Amino acid sequence: MRILVVEDEKKTASFIRKALQAEGFAVDVCGNGEDALAAVAATPFDALLLDIMLPGRDGLGVLSQLRERGNKIPVLLLSARGEVNERVAGLNAGADDYLPKPFVIAELVARVRALARRGGETKSTVLQLANLALDTVTHEARRGETKIELTVREYRLLEFLLRNPNRICGRMSIIEKVWDYDFDPGTNLVDVYVRRLREKIDDGFEAKLLHTVRGIGYVLKEAP
Ligand code: CA
Repeated sequence: MRILVVEDEKKTASFIRKALQAEGFAVDVCGNGEDALAAVAATPFDALLLDIMLPGRDGLGVLSQLRERGNKIPVLLLSARGEVNERVAGLNAGADDYLPKPFVIAELVARVRALARRGGETKSTVLQLANLALDTVTHEARRGETKIELTVREYRLLEFLLRNPNRICGRMSIIEKVWDYDFDPGTNLVDVYVRRLREKIDDGFEAKLLHTVRGIGYVLKEAP
C-alpha cells in the first residue's frame, strides 16, 4: 500500500515515514500543499496523511480541493492544535479521520492501516497481468491457482511492476520506488531481487512475464 505523507516539518515527516515503511508501506513525502495535489494527481495512493499546518495552502485547503475534484482518497488529518472546531472543520471538509499531535506512532500506523483498507474496499484492490494477480490489501499473490509467498520487498517490487505493465522500468526508478533510495547504491541489488521474483512468478510456467531489457531495466508483460 502506498501512502503520501504531507508534512513540512522534516523531522516529523521522516519519523512518520520510517514508521510506516517498517510496516511495509511504500511512502512518499511532500512538504507543501501544491506538491501534494500534484502527487495525488500523478500517483494512485491508498491513503493521504495530511498535516493541517503547512506553508501556503494548508491541509484543509488541500483536502477541499481534492474533494472538489471528486477525489475520494482516504485522508487522515494531523493537527498540532487538536481543537474541537478544527476537528469538525476537517471532517466537514471531507477527512476520514483526525489525529491530534502529539500522537503515539503506533496509533498513527494503526489508523493509516485501517484507512488504507477502507479505501481499498471501494475500488479494485487486485492488480493483474495475464494469470498473475496481486491483492494490494491482503498482499496475496497468485499465478493461476498457485499461491506465491513474497517477502515485503518482493511484494513492493511486484506491485511496482504490476502498476506499470508493458512499460520498461529502469533500475533507478525501481530503486526509488521499491527501496525509497534517491541514490544508486551501486550494487546489483535490483538484479538480485528481480531474479528471486522471477523464480517465484515465472519458474514452472510456460508463458514468462518478467523480462530483462538489457542495460536498461525490466518489464512485466505478456510475451508478444
Ligand atoms: Ca506542519
